[in-house]
Amino acid sequence: MSAKGKDSGLSVKYPDTFRVKPGTEVKLRQIDADSTGDCEDRACAEQELAELTRRLAELQLLMFAECKWSLLMVLQAMDGGGKDGTVSHVISSMNPQGVTVQQFKVPSAEEMAHDYLWRAHKVTPARGRVVVFNRSHYEDVLVVRVHGLVPKEVWSERYDQINDWEEHLAENGTLVMKFYLHIDKNEQLARFKDRLDDPTKHWKVSAGDYAERALWDQYQEAYEDAISKCSTECAPWFVIPANRKWFRNLAISRILVETLASLNMQFPAPSVDIQEIRRLYEAAAKESS
Ligand code: AMP
Ligand code: MG
Repeated sequence: MSAKGKDSGLSVKYPDTFRVKPGTEVKLRQIDADSTGDCEDRACAEQELAELTRRLAELQLLMFAECKWSLLMVLQAMDGGGKDGTVSHVISSMNPQGVTVQQFKVPSAEEMAHDYLWRAHKVTPARGRVVVFNRSHYEDVLVVRVHGLVPKEVWSERYDQINDWEEHLAENGTLVMKFYLHIDKNEQLARFKDRLDDPTKHWKVSAGDYAERALWDQYQEAYEDAISKCSTECAPWFVIPANRKWFRNLAISRILVETLASLNMQFPAPSVDIQEIRRLYEAAAKESS
């Protein structure tokens, strides 16, 4: 599929693998969270992942240098789904100068005093930059819906509002790519146990995780609606099988590399006369020899 940002000239090809085609009704239960696609095991992925990591760093440098497009990457998942792990394994290959990771916590009083997209729009990427949303504006149709923090009449209007806002970003040169890290309920419990068993992970443990886990089905339903209603031509959702962390990293890296490569980004032509600068260099070199 090619998506065009009408005003920006942005023309991008999103991969089909794991992309939710617009208009599809997603049923998460029918998607195998254990899947490792065409890869048998971690060893088979390692070499490819190393190459993808190198490419991703190159493409991000190009994006930064060209300063034309930007990337907004949204990460959503159930607790323990691997948002933090994705940041540290996939995003860390990029140059921190061009990347920001933005967390979305319970809104502050100032944020609550504004419309729900205000805090998100403030931190969208400038041209050339990558911003990763670790949780996002989607919490306003997820936790807010599951806990009834606003009435249904309010949250049910938000899908269209989110689509309009994301389209606005895309039309102005921002790639909007949304990843749902799909784990199953057993895997969540296994990860909660890992956290309990590893003292360096105790800071992540909370009773709240178990209260939210009790609402698993309601969350899955809210995710299915958000993903089904908001996977659009210009701002797709990808549902990534994420029980195997190495496959999650591989799948996301592949999608990012393929998408960014389709932009055909170029280093900008120099704004100075390189021959002239070379003469300056040679004169300086002669002087110091
Ligand atoms: P964590 O990502 O584990 O640090 O937790 C952040 C918490 O903030 C999660 O429990 C989210 O559900 C919650 N949160 C994020 N955005 C919102 C929102 N718009 N309204 C209410 N809670 C939110
Ligand atoms: Mg948490």
